[in-house]
Amino acid sequence: MLHLKVKGKATVRVGALGEISLAAGNYVYVGSARKSIESRVSRHRRLADTKTGKLHWHIDYLLTHPKITLIGQDAYAGCRECAVAQILASLKGVSIPVPRFGASDCRAGCGAHLFQVGKTAKRKMSPSAIQKARGRM
Ligand SMILES: [Zn+2]
Repeated sequence: MLHLKVKGKATVRVGALGEISLAAGNYVYVGSARKSIESRVSRHRRLADTKTGKLHWHIDYLLTHPKITLIGQDAYAGCRECAVAQILASLKGVSIPVPRFGASDCRAGCGAHLFQVGKTAKRKMSPSAIQKARGRM
């Protein structure tokens, strides 16, 4: 899970998805890394810090946007990204700002792997809350 903060309305051209518009606020992106979660996260971190690099995934276009900051990340070992995405989607105060974002190859029926997070939902996204929700699935 990557936690993003969008400062002011951001218009971003995201590869094949085209131009999208995000309102100011907090967002969470759910991705996966089959081999090394550390190297995937540090690649995201590097793009966010330097605002430059090769853009491959939808999320890369957000990370390199000047109005968007990567404010944190949580990793869950042995967990499918779609399971986490569906936990998030079920929370009150969480919405999908851009249909299919980050989910073009998703076969689990997620609406997207990017979520806008309202203030009320923020606390429910703590690692311990996610682990608890996984246990109930
Ligand atoms: Zn999915």
